[in-house]
Amino acid sequence: MGSLELRNVRKSFGSVDVLRGINLEVADGEFVVFVGPSGCGKSTLLRIIAGLEHATEGSLIIGGRDVSAVPPAKRGIAMVFQTYALYPHLNVRDNMGLGLKQAGMPKADIAARVKTAAAMLSLDALLERRPAELSGGQRQRVAIGRAIVREPDLFLFDEPLSNLDAALRVQTRLEIARLHDEIGTTMVYVTHDQVEAMTLADRIVVLHGGVIQQVGSPMELYNDPANIFVAGFIGSPK
Ligand code: ADP
Ligand code: MG
Repeated sequence: MGSLELRNVRKSFGSVDVLRGINLEVADGEFVVFVGPSGCGKSTLLRIIAGLEHATEGSLIIGGRDVSAVPPAKRGIAMVFQTYALYPHLNVRDNMGLGLKQAGMPKADIAARVKTAAAMLSLDALLERRPAELSGGQRQRVAIGRAIVREPDLFLFDEPLSNLDAALRVQTRLEIARLHDEIGTTMVYVTHDQVEAMTLADRIVVLHGGVIQQVGSPMELYNDPANIFVAGFIGSPK
């Protein structure tokens, strides 16, 4: 269901070629981390997968279906952003359920899904609070909860930890890993942080200069980097 295939995905902004032919197959249930320096096109690629941006060329297959012309809401995807993008006037419960409400789901079903997701993320006691009454880590858990309730085939994460302090970064990272263990849904995660990539990924994709430099397990990349860029990027501490 949640497999993903990128076929020769290209993206240019004006005369700038940001993505210069990305080819990758992600298996259902896999946790794949795209890693690369700031500006290398990670967010652009995620936005193309989510349907928030159109590729200049290439195609995109999700669960065996070409979704290039399918609108974002019908792609079976949920995305978690670096900035939590919560509604300040809504409490946690309503922030988590809003997407389902907009999709016309009956109230009782929404309530049940919010309850399950809140339990998964230890948000039960915070459901009546508004975003301003939450810590950064709690806000990001709400944003993750909002993704979970949609029961997507594919989760996309765009640097979800970068606005958190060091301790919360570790805690939230462990929560994301636990979530993947628990629900087994395909996850595509982008970060500029090697440690996040090394600890979360089944496979790491190193992106630089608009092309994939190497794809492999964390140990493969660490032990056998394909080139000096990968060696420097994976080998050097941040
Ligand atoms: P990353 O997420 O890896 O930091 P981005 O995908 O945000 O990189 O950006 C990749 C490149 O594309 C950058 O040079 C950025 O300035 C450029 N870019 C991104 N979005 C736009 C846009 N809407 N218009 C023009 N250039 C863009
Ligand atoms: Mg980005």
